[in-house]
Amino acid sequence: MTSKEYMDLTEEHVLHTYNRFPVVFEKGEGVYLTDVDGKQYLDFGAGIAVFALGYGNQDYNNALKEQVDHLIHTSNLFYNVPLAQAAEKLTKATGLDKVFFTNSGTEAIEGAIKAARKCAWLKDKNAEKAGKDAAGSCENVAADDPAAEEAHTNYELIAMNHSFHGRSVGALSVTGNPHYQEAFRPLMGGVRFAEFNDLESVKSQVTDRTCAIILETVQGEGGIYPATPEFLKGVRALCDEKDILLILDEIQCGMGRTGSWFACQQYGVQPDIMTCAKALGCGIPVGAFVLNEKTAKASLVPGDHGTTYGGNPLACAAVSKVFDLFEEQHIIEHVQALTPYLEQQLDALVETYDFLSVRRGKGFMQGIVVEGRPVGEIVTRALENGLVVLSAEGNVLRLVPPLVIEKEDIDEMIKRLKASF
Ligand SMILES: *Cc1c(COP(=O)(O)O)cnc(C)c1O
Repeated sequence: MTSKEYMDLTEEHVLHTYNRFPVVFEKGEGVYLTDVDGKQYLDFGAGIAVFALGYGNQDYNNALKEQVDHLIHTSNLFYNVPLAQAAEKLTKATGLDKVFFTNSGTEAIEGAIKAARKCAWLKDKNAEKAGKDAAGSCENVAADDPAAEEAHTNYELIAMNHSFHGRSVGALSVTGNPHYQEAFRPLMGGVRFAEFNDLESVKSQVTDRTCAIILETVQGEGGIYPATPEFLKGVRALCDEKDILLILDEIQCGMGRTGSWFACQQYGVQPDIMTCAKALGCGIPVGAFVLNEKTAKASLVPGDHGTTYGGNPLACAAVSKVFDLFEEQHIIEHVQALTPYLEQQLDALVETYDFLSVRRGKGFMQGIVVEGRPVGEIVTRALENGLVVLSAEGNVLRLVPPLVIEKEDIDEMIKRLKASF
């Protein structure tokens, strides 16, 4: 079949929720993708910040093949070997205590929201109970007591404008993009929006009902905005002061992309709950939300949350192997070492071309603001020139390459990008 025929067949049967570029990829090798016509593309998109290890990594592939032959799925009614291994490695890398594996980033956000609300609900219930006790009543507030339900008043979340957390109803409700939300109202209630990198704006949204603040350490879809240290530390301090949970969405910026396991570690800020996905399984669909001890103890218990696939042996074997390979191949050190060169080359582009105004980013998560011409045009031209780049909100050219790129890949990217201008 020709690529045109594959495209037509796809459009005939797949719900048209994406305007796809006219390329049919067939295989990958290192940092290059090949389409069905044999044309090669240097990949600076990595399947949207997913394929960190590059394509055709034999150690990774073999680990998956081995797991396929052992066991693919068991359900969460039982224990399995890769689950234990992946959970140990992820909690160690995050510095948090308990993990729940999901099948996507969106589901990790859903779980984080539920964990935060459960925490708040228990706090309310205990406060209610303490109040009654203080008044001389020994009445126990059972979980299904309407009084306990009424007491659940601190359910509000604060999210950021221009954030992106996913497309399910819950995740969409904390996604600060009216365009994505418009047709699907009413969404989940109790969400207030603040300005990213504006601590006063966040403070102004805090009420006595606030249970959690959710934000990306580096906003991705919204246009590659790293949090400022003052902002992130300020939000952490605010949460501590008001007994509010901090949820950091590290789905795009985590897993080594910014030069540390998780971006928040460069700020010295720990969340109460962290969400991961994208590069966590390097292409196997898997996400996770990870909680600190305090939140884990006071939130979800059996009956509160579940998933059939989540944490299955195949997905966890991928996660486990990704952690091993990151260590063996010194991926994080590599990102740190090569970031100055990447930034230097991109800054030189911004200086050279009038229609490029600003570079923003951290590590291998970089954005360049394009003025006066649609970024989509550049992305299309780049594809014609054998280069995959992405865009983000605000007419931003987004570069999120595999974390194994070398200096010559950066040079080649710059060459192909220049040709596309
Ligand atoms: C991609 C992304 C999500 C959603 O993850 P999916 O795997 O697409 O469900 C959530 N938050 C951020 C920051 C993301 O970049």
